[in-house]
Amino acid sequence: MLSNTKQKPVNIPEIIQEAHNTFNSGKTKPLEWRKKQLQNLLRMYEENKNAMIDALAKDLRRCKMEAILLEVDYLINDLINTLNNFDEWTKPERPSKAIINVLDDVVIYNDPYGVVLIIGAWNYPLQLLLLPMAGAIAAGNVVVIKPSELAEACAQFIVETLPKYLDNDAVIVVEGGPEESTELLKQKFDYIFYTGGTNVGKIVYAAAVKNLTPVTLELGGKSPVYIDNSVDMEITVKRILWGKFINVGQTCIAPDYILCSKEVQEKFVEFAKNILKEWYGEDPQKSPDLCRIINNRHFSRLQALIDASKDKVVIGGRYDAQDRFIAPTILANVTASDKIMEDEIFGPILPIVPIENAYEAIKFINSREKPLVLYVFSTNKEVTKNIVENTSSGGMCINDTVMQMGVETLPFGGVGNSGMGAYHGKKSFDTFTHKKSCLIRNFASIGEKLASSRYPPYSDGKLKFITTLMKKRNGPSLKYLPYLLTFALGVGISYGIFAWQKVKK
Ligand code: NAD
Repeated sequence: MLSNTKQKPVNIPEIIQEAHNTFNSGKTKPLEWRKKQLQNLLRMYEENKNAMIDALAKDLRRCKMEAILLEVDYLINDLINTLNNFDEWTKPERPSKAIINVLDDVVIYNDPYGVVLIIGAWNYPLQLLLLPMAGAIAAGNVVVIKPSELAEACAQFIVETLPKYLDNDAVIVVEGGPEESTELLKQKFDYIFYTGGTNVGKIVYAAAVKNLTPVTLELGGKSPVYIDNSVDMEITVKRILWGKFINVGQTCIAPDYILCSKEVQEKFVEFAKNILKEWYGEDPQKSPDLCRIINNRHFSRLQALIDASKDKVVIGGRYDAQDRFIAPTILANVTASDKIMEDEIFGPILPIVPIENAYEAIKFINSREKPLVLYVFSTNKEVTKNIVENTSSGGMCINDTVMQMGVETLPFGGVGNSGMGAYHGKKSFDTFTHKKSCLIRNFASIGEKLASSRYPPYSDGKLKFITTLMKKRNGPSLKYLPYLLTFALGVGISYGIFAWQKVKK
């Protein structure tokens, strides 16, 4: 494994050329090799749980419970799921076919793309890098990963630990920041998977276009929450506050702002005051369960947002630059034109924008960029149906926040400004797999006879025959027709032999 440590500058074009050589050697394709890498990765997670928890504590002052639930165990469970389903996922698919192909084999092979670049973000520095990496390895690719330079301890953990467990030729870590990313993006990759902000996402996309490289862009944006007055307010407030204040709001799927009526806003704030006190105590800065802001730049950005909304703070609003601490903060009576409503907040500030009803919420959401997630809290089926049908977002969760991430069968990704493509569970494997279609024919005379009406000289009769064969019909799948025909033939022959023997007697 090559890495770009500060002591040892590396030649990125050379590294990527070597990565292509490794892929071309065929080393990463055998299923046994892939499985072995995944098993080694699982061993790495299990043997280094404490080191991972420590690295997250250093970078974000992440507490043990959030480190385990949101990164360590999340990675382990995803990998176990991949290993459990590996044989099934890697098998070529045999889709249904038309009558004209009844004697042919119709197959979709799962081909690895080749050399994959994965660029990670700092907010979940292990999960966002290693989860797609596992999918790319399972799919048989060579993987080049670049951890975020902002989560230094996690980047260091990856650089030091991964080489001890994985094949160094096929899993390559490149350390660094924008400079190294820029150099990486000048190289030709077969797939690029990027997680981070929308602006850099556009740079990555532009670089990929030059080589027509397919991409997944896992971006961010402002994820709204709509609440109506039909809900259990205490549970609603708990679910929203938890989703907002894990990792102190530095979560791409954190609720960014709330849309609700004034009446709901009032109840929300009352419950929130008590719940936050219960969770984090009188002085939240002393709570061991609240993370810190990743760096001074992000701290100043968030501090400026609070300063610009001072008159709207109803809970929290306190910060301490020395400690990069910002108290869980709620703003009420925010308007669409307030500064806090411009960009993704990505910190522990939760604005509430009063609106009249669900119809207005839909209009509000649709007047902005498409969010990564849309949260709706309502027990009114009409309301939720209306919002589901009349808005566009990467995903949705109704009556909870963040928990959708725990459902491995739900692909995770954005749409429009919040990204393109998705992963998690089988979707991770599929993302890094080119679905190669293949029709396999044979030289049996019956097949040739069936299809020979395609040859010139053309005639109306031939056209009629071939269009009848190709016509799409609603009916039972033809997948088992060859077996049925063989069975029918067997029955026919047996009956013939039986009848013939009878005649002979
Ligand atoms: P970022 O865009 O600053 O950085 C992400 C990665 O891009 C880092 O590895 C960084 O080194 C690299 N990078 C930075 N500048 C670059 C440049 N000019 N050219 C090429 N690469 C460059 O993002 P961030 O601050 O690390 O992450 C925060 C954003 O990411 C938020 O908007 C958040 O919503 C989003 N995010 C999305 C997801 C998701 O899964 N959809 C997950 C986490 C974060």
